[in-house]
Amino acid sequence: MRMSRSLRLWSLVVAGIFLSTRVMAHGYAVYVSTPVTPPREFLIIPPAFFALLIVVNRFLQRKLWGSVFPRCTWLVIWLFMMFALPFFLWGILAAMATTAPPPGLGTPNYAWWGFGWQKVGSLFLRWNALGLILFLLSVWIVYAVRLGRLWPGRIFTVLYAHAGCYLVSLVPFMLLGALTHGWPGGYVKMSCGGRMNCVYQGIARYAHANGDRLPVAQDVNGLLAEVGPFLNTEDRTCSGRLDICPYGDARERTPKPYIWNPEFSGASIDKMWELFNAPPGHQLPLSCPYHQNDMSLWFDRDWYKATKDSQ
Ligand SMILES: [Zn+2]
Repeated sequence: MRMSRSLRLWSLVVAGIFLSTRVMAHGYAVYVSTPVTPPREFLIIPPAFFALLIVVNRFLQRKLWGSVFPRCTWLVIWLFMMFALPFFLWGILAAMATTAPPPGLGTPNYAWWGFGWQKVGSLFLRWNALGLILFLLSVWIVYAVRLGRLWPGRIFTVLYAHAGCYLVSLVPFMLLGALTHGWPGGYVKMSCGGRMNCVYQGIARYAHANGDRLPVAQDVNGLLAEVGPFLNTEDRTCSGRLDICPYGDARERTPKPYIWNPEFSGASIDKMWELFNAPPGHQLPLSCPYHQNDMSLWFDRDWYKATKDSQ
């Protein structure tokens, strides 16, 4: 009875931790890729890491002590849990330390392919250095307990071999550039809307100065070349990058740019204004491939009214 009560309590604590990390992130939730917290595309890494530990421990024991220890698999399970659980919990607590969470560890999410070494390299190295230290500490404790000595002979060989296992399991992340993973908070979508709004305002001002005609362009880069002089560069968002969504920028190595609908090239601005009263679901002049047809991103009645009234 007591057991089931403490189990229930633990489930509540764990569920609370998971829930908090889901609701608290504002911008990007950034989780570091480690052998026990991989991106969703690399779910094979933890079991592969575990299998590698089994093979290496059997090999080491036979080589150093003449035979494989009885219940060697249990020793590896113990080692794995002893390292992975505290490391994961520590990482999750770091990732929910404030309402705008700093990076840490978390459940497997899609890789942030767009965050390269320059942006998250030191973060990746710092967290994995911590992971390696915790891992080697666990190896030492497990072997010390098993062999009944605080500092067993040949322990350095064992530690080096395990450090090698840890580093090998990081190679796929490093080679393919999946150093972090995570999910976008509400601010990322708002930031996409902010960029689109800059462009839409530029389009309106362009039309105002060009006989109420929308710019003629093939794609978003052509569009930005036309409306560039009409952007409100006093607004920090409008002086930044305006051709891609911040979500796509983080999610993909080569993000898809915003889509300019050529149907609106050179059309009357009224064609654009009509959309404000149209039902959702139809083609917008400019849309985001990651937040497709999300009118709310630029459907800003106050701004629309102010711009229209000033004409
Ligand atoms: Zn977007």
